[in-house]
Amino acid sequence: MEKAQDVFKKLISHCKEYGYIFQSSEIYDGLSAVYDYGPYGSELKNNIKNYWWSSMVKLHENIVGIDSAIFMHPTIWKASGHVDAFNDPMIDNKDSKKRYRADTLIEDFIANKIDKKINKEVEKARKRFGESFDEAEFISTNPRVVANTEKKQGIMAAFTKAMEEDDMEALKAVIVDNGIVCPESGSREWTDVRQFNLMFATKMGAIAEGADTIYLRPETAQGIFVNFLNVQKTTRQKIPFGIAQIGKAFRNEIVARQFIFRMREFEQMEMQFFVRPGTEMEWYEKWKETRMNWHKAVSPDAKLKFHDHDNLAHYANAAVDIEFEFPFGFKELEGIHSRTDFDLKSHQEHSNKKLHYFDPEINDSYIPYVVETSIGVDRMFLAIMSNALQDEEVLDAKGNKTTRVVLRIHPALAPVKVAILPLVKKDEALTGKAREIFNKLKFSFNCQYDEKDAIGKRYRRQDAIGTPYCITIDQQTIDDNTVTLRDRDSMEQIRIAIDALEEHIADKLDMRALLA
Ligand code: ATP
Repeated sequence: MEKAQDVFKKLISHCKEYGYIFQSSEIYDGLSAVYDYGPYGSELKNNIKNYWWSSMVKLHENIVGIDSAIFMHPTIWKASGHVDAFNDPMIDNKDSKKRYRADTLIEDFIANKIDKKINKEVEKARKRFGESFDEAEFISTNPRVVANTEKKQGIMAAFTKAMEEDDMEALKAVIVDNGIVCPESGSREWTDVRQFNLMFATKMGAIAEGADTIYLRPETAQGIFVNFLNVQKTTRQKIPFGIAQIGKAFRNEIVARQFIFRMREFEQMEMQFFVRPGTEMEWYEKWKETRMNWHKAVSPDAKLKFHDHDNLAHYANAAVDIEFEFPFGFKELEGIHSRTDFDLKSHQEHSNKKLHYFDPEINDSYIPYVVETSIGVDRMFLAIMSNALQDEEVLDAKGNKTTRVVLRIHPALAPVKVAILPLVKKDEALTGKAREIFNKLKFSFNCQYDEKDAIGKRYRRQDAIGTPYCITIDQQTIDDNTVTLRDRDSMEQIRIAIDALEEHIADKLDMRALLA
């Protein structure tokens, strides 16, 4: 088994080598936690956004989309709580000089030191007892497991209390009392914990002096809330209904060492669903299920799980993450939050504008409750890539074992759908025919024409890009108008008439399969 760290490194270099992702400002030695998407990356990103947008806006009569500005009135961030509370607790190790988020340091300690021990005991016992193993019974009676569970509960209780009470001294005490060490250096020499606000600020207007402080939005959701009545009135939606938005968000993250998992400039896909107060938990459950299905359609074999929040944000009465097993462990991919009427109520207070909805069904007016689904485009991108990149043992033309690198991206999301490859570059009859096919198919699919290198090498290149189909044009094509169609996943090759190509391949590439 390859080490997780090596798998992740390989993924990052694959992204660069094949034009998916580049470090921002690379020729100037880069800008930390900011990335650019290359030719294939931007295609994949667009396809992810399209899949999300279609599943929300196209498939739901009662969800509409907007595109609000990144700059917004500064009071919005006061009302939303971001000015006062959008902080992460920061701690430095004095020996290694490494900076950490105190909360993730504690969470990682629990996952790597305590949960791992418990799981090991359980797996050992499962093997020992075989069929008769009763996991629940074992967990509640085995002395080592019970001791570790109690330890975990003790840490969690102190951690949650410190976070809820904003008590940075208590948070540091959790780290010190449990002997949590710097993962880099093993040192226990910690600074105090300080709160750090994650919003980027800038000045609006020609003269910075005296100008208002403006924030780069740290989430797209507020653009939806402040447009709630505009949208509701102009589209005559009735509750329950949703507003969806895709757009950039900015956070001055304390630690950003995990490639595009945690960036300082990233993109979100958020949907706020407005419901009658008291019905929010039903909708919360519904959206949990809908969103999990959306993920499973893309990666049926992916490791996904729900993780209920231990610390609820200031606006939420229920919150869950959909976690994905990245090469560095299970981490948040998407959040589903029941936000109550916190945001609309607060905007009503700060703006002095009534944000009520008149509900004709109950003949009453109220501030709607909100269930939100919020996912990062870039994190989804990383999840897809980590699921898709595989080293596979195959046989070469001579029957010898060899390895091929293949990106098994879902065909409907793959950046290039079809590669068109004349077998011989110098044969104009073949290249002409290939161009003809390219010019026909390009109206339906994102195609790539490639005539350089031996055919086997070109197949490998398309496998590494994740192209679902390769079409090869050879001498027989000139004689009978058929081509070889090669499937990325099975590597199977069939002979097919040019006229039948489009219909044959369209099926697998169609986004409708995913959406259904
Ligand atoms: P985390 O706990 O990982 O910092 P969060 O709980 O602050 O994330 P949310 O505010 O719920 O995240 O944001 C919604 C989604 O936006 C996340 O599920 C994630 O997919 C994405 N996201 C948040 N922060 C970043 C970031 N810095 N870089 C990339 N994506 C992000």
